[in-house]
Amino acid sequence: MKTVKQLWLCVMDQVRWYVRLPATQKRTAELYFSAAERARVAAAEIDTLRGDAARTGNELDGLRQKLAQDAQRSFSGLTPAETERLALLAEELGEAAQAVGKILRHGYQNSSPFGGPSNQVQLERELGDVKVAIDLLTAAGDVRAGDIHARRRQKRRSVARWLRHQGQGQ
Ligand SMILES: [Mg+2]
Repeated sequence: MKTVKQLWLCVMDQVRWYVRLPATQKRTAELYFSAAERARVAAAEIDTLRGDAARTGNELDGLRQKLAQDAQRSFSGLTPAETERLALLAEELGEAAQAVGKILRHGYQNSSPFGGPSNQVQLERELGDVKVAIDLLTAAGDVRAGDIHARRRQKRRSVARWLRHQGQGQ
């Protein structure tokens, strides 16, 4: 890189060269330098426009992405992923409730007359499924695991006074 002094000397060389030119050549040199300057300004403008176009393109891409996400939301504001997790939870809770119903009517050890696992195994499976659905909800941040645990501790204490048969053997 040139120092300021070197640049100044270059400029002075150019000035001396220009002063020594005959009048006709002076005009040609002026035209040459003004054309070169216009080309330099135009190139800088093109660079600026290219930058603006790239920025506008990025903004449009972001807007397009946001519109696509908004279009996927339902009237409730839920995303397809949130809806799917809630649907799985509802389905598994329903299946667990069905397994409880079978045990209440036929006992833990009975099973369907058409075969399959016992009602106890069926309930264990469905409770496991419910836990998976809950895990998905907490992992996604739909519900807060800490608040669920806090409620568990609170409920364990509060429900004790309303349970009349616990702690009396089987
Ligand atoms: Mg299930």
